[in-house]
Amino acid sequence: MARQQYYPNYNRYGRRRRINPKGYMTFIIIAFLGLVGGFIFNIFYQVHQLSVLTENQTELEFQEIPTVDRWHNKEAKFVYLTFDDGPSKNATKILDVLDSYDIKGTFFVLGSSIEGYSEAKDILKRMADTGHYIGMHSMSHDYAYLYDTEKGGENFVGELLEEQNLIKDITGGFISQLCRAPYGSGGTFTPAHIESLKEAGIKCWDWDVDSLDWERGATVDSIMKNIEYCMNLWNYPRNTIVLFHEKDVTIEVLPRVIEYYTELGYEFLPYNPEHHLVKNLYGSDEI
Ligand SMILES: [Zn+2]
Repeated sequence: MARQQYYPNYNRYGRRRRINPKGYMTFIIIAFLGLVGGFIFNIFYQVHQLSVLTENQTELEFQEIPTVDRWHNKEAKFVYLTFDDGPSKNATKILDVLDSYDIKGTFFVLGSSIEGYSEAKDILKRMADTGHYIGMHSMSHDYAYLYDTEKGGENFVGELLEEQNLIKDITGGFISQLCRAPYGSGGTFTPAHIESLKEAGIKCWDWDVDSLDWERGATVDSIMKNIEYCMNLWNYPRNTIVLFHEKDVTIEVLPRVIEYYTELGYEFLPYNPEHHLVKNLYGSDEI
């Protein structure tokens, strides 16, 4: 005899099982009660949460601090114009352009540039007095010493601390808390760099947009084209950091850059250590 196959809806005599209508009704009623119960519970839960929130309202309001995301209480985009390797003979002209638009920049100065340029002290004082941010770019810019050695992390932060003191003395007390790694942090930093930076309480910024103003043959048009390309590539980030150097062409392109970002609705800010923004190519959220 062939083995009977089992069909769940048929009994062993091959007759269709009868479905009990009473059972169905009970199931529907239970499901309905479950839904209504869940809904009521949810409302009670939300009301409870709201009352907890209201009780803590004073505390919440007190703790609330303005962040760069809600500048003047409106949604906004921010651009940080940064200038490396100075102060050079062009620093004053760059400051003049920025000041004429009432825009503050961030200058990552080099220890060797400060020591090698007689007017550097006055320029740093002007930056500090007029609200631009002075960041550190190391003393030497020396790849081998800062990165290509086992003591790279220590050497790097050692130079930053030396420069921090130099800037402090010149400006009469400004303590810089931000650096830009020469050649950027991506592909240069090691875990030791991060540890040493953390110990020293110094943060580190790279950039979203490299203006390429340092390239041989760079023009106002080539720089603008490149900035527009990068902004489009990164989908117009809410916070964007643009890298410049103190080149002749940088002075020339600056008004165009400022108009470009203004038209896009960006506001210009200098670095603010109280609202640090993480932006490094190394990929650490600790610096
Ligand atoms: Zn540099």
